[in-house]
Amino acid sequence: MVIMKIRLDFFCRVVNFLCVYALALLACASIAAVQAQQIEINTIPVVEGIYMLEGRGGNIGVSVGEDGVFMIDDQYAPMSDAIRAAIAKLSDQPIRFLINTHWHGDHTGGNEVFGKLGAVIVAHDNVRERLLRGGKIEAFDMVTEPAPKAALPVVTFADAVTFHMNGDTLKVEHISAAHTDGDAVIYFTDANVVHMGDLYFNGFYPFIDASSGGAVAGVIAGAAEVLGRIDDKTRIIPGHGPLSNKAELQRYHAMLSEVYQRVKTLKDKGQSRQQVVAAKPTADFDAQWGGGFLQPDIWVGIVYDAI
Ligand SMILES: [Zn+2]
Repeated sequence: MVIMKIRLDFFCRVVNFLCVYALALLACASIAAVQAQQIEINTIPVVEGIYMLEGRGGNIGVSVGEDGVFMIDDQYAPMSDAIRAAIAKLSDQPIRFLINTHWHGDHTGGNEVFGKLGAVIVAHDNVRERLLRGGKIEAFDMVTEPAPKAALPVVTFADAVTFHMNGDTLKVEHISAAHTDGDAVIYFTDANVVHMGDLYFNGFYPFIDASSGGAVAGVIAGAAEVLGRIDDKTRIIPGHGPLSNKAELQRYHAMLSEVYQRVKTLKDKGQSRQQVVAAKPTADFDAQWGGGFLQPDIWVGIVYDAI
């Protein structure tokens, strides 16, 4: 979720300004306390040996066991110490592998720290390319500088890679052209847990990054593929939002499919982005899905761009 980062950066600048120019030591102390609070990590047990970590940025998945720690995504760089501390409470083993579900900074910001600690970073081929070259998320006019070497994935894959760790078989599979062009979904096949990355925003309108090769149809197809492979007992770790299940993913898939059809119909008729946004094609969904970080009007524009 890139807006979080923008807000965090802005907040830090405000804090600096206050501390340097406003002489308000007391205010700075209380702001520092707020900042400390902000990087608290919430550890949620998913099943035995698998956890979801919430902090700032995308949800982290962690598998612990006799073979070491397997980690999925790593939020922002300033979160790294808090994330390390939270994982250390779950296991005294090293972090052996770190998967990036896609290249966005709220999922890869800790790569440099964890890479230097010795974690082998694994991602789809396009994630490495985008981190290596840097990129721009057009929807938010947000530029990301090329990543340092230690932050780059050292193992990449085109379609899939399988890990055999902690008594489970972990299938990491690419979903083409969905949230971005480098998305991965991770199936813990024995534990019946799935980490979907930003293919799934649980409970609110998802960001789809057309400027990074994403497409609405790909998100819908990706969600449908996951739905076809899970059952009512599957636990789903979404990229953002609370721990989830098949019934909730079905509702998300149905909402996305309907909105896609409505916006596509208008776009196919030749309506401009502005006209489609003004038509408010998501009005009946907004109360339930529009309370996240993307306001309905902004989201309809993102869908329009990603068709
Ligand atoms: Zn993302």
